[in-house]
Amino acid sequence: MNAIYAAFFAFVAGAFTGCAASIVYRLAIVRLAKTAFIQYVRPVFGRPSTLPPVERSDVGRLIHRVLKDQEDRCERYSAARLPRLGQKAPACYEMIGRCIGLLDAFSSCAWKCSGGDHILERLVIRANNSARGALRLGLMGFYDESLTLARSVGEIANLLSLFSERRELFDRWKTLDERTRRREFSPVKVREALEQVGTPIRVSTSAYGELSSRAVHVNPDTSPQTFDAQGRPKGASYYQEAGLMVCLNELAQALTFVTYASAQLSHLETDYKRRLFKAGRDLIINTGRIGIENIQERWAELEKKRAEVEAAAQ
Ligand SMILES: [Zn+2]
Repeated sequence: MNAIYAAFFAFVAGAFTGCAASIVYRLAIVRLAKTAFIQYVRPVFGRPSTLPPVERSDVGRLIHRVLKDQEDRCERYSAARLPRLGQKAPACYEMIGRCIGLLDAFSSCAWKCSGGDHILERLVIRANNSARGALRLGLMGFYDESLTLARSVGEIANLLSLFSERRELFDRWKTLDERTRRREFSPVKVREALEQVGTPIRVSTSAYGELSSRAVHVNPDTSPQTFDAQGRPKGASYYQEAGLMVCLNELAQALTFVTYASAQLSHLETDYKRRLFKAGRDLIINTGRIGIENIQERWAELEKKRAEVEAAAQ
């Protein structure tokens, strides 16, 4: 029996020592990488300096190591903050995960292979991949980039939403040549068609425009990762509560419609369709109101309240 205890103790001690050694090793690597990064770019913040004449052959890899470490830390921090962001945000995150899991099962024929051309499945895989990317980027503090991908999910959501209402258009979309398809089914044409059909539209024209100008295209007012009341532009991987919430909500809305439309268009048995509808419904119920279209109004409201409080205090 003593031998068993000794073996168990040795195992635990070994695991602990191994963990500790691994952490120490990781910290040492990051420290080395940071030193190489600083030596290479020489940040001087206004003081006179010259760049070093010699550079390490692996400095690029080490710079990426530092950036990856920063991204990982932001992702862990976002995940730790989420449960404290009210009721909807953590539930929204939970439901996004469920929808992604169900869409993955559907699109990979894990429940049933319906045969045929698998075009619907491929569109869902594309949307799901973008959704996974958007979620990860949002957690890592790449909010603009997350929204760019959410916009892509929204485009597929709109297309599938239209096809679920007008099945004949899905057949037409499949058979058109590339040029005609782009003309007839451009994102703006799809939004117009959805407006005529009268179904709930995921990416409205105004939201699409806002997503495009804030997250996709550049203009003289471009201000990256600006999700704070002060409106300061930043690099990526800095946690911003509003940024995370906007990303979750924008992604959730797009993903809900992909989930609904997929269930409608699929040839799945009723139980599986019900599961998809339920996940989509739970997601939209837990989607918050703060989004790309109204975040500026929210900041203005907060600023007004702050000014009122300060005026009352004087
Ligand atoms: Zn299949």
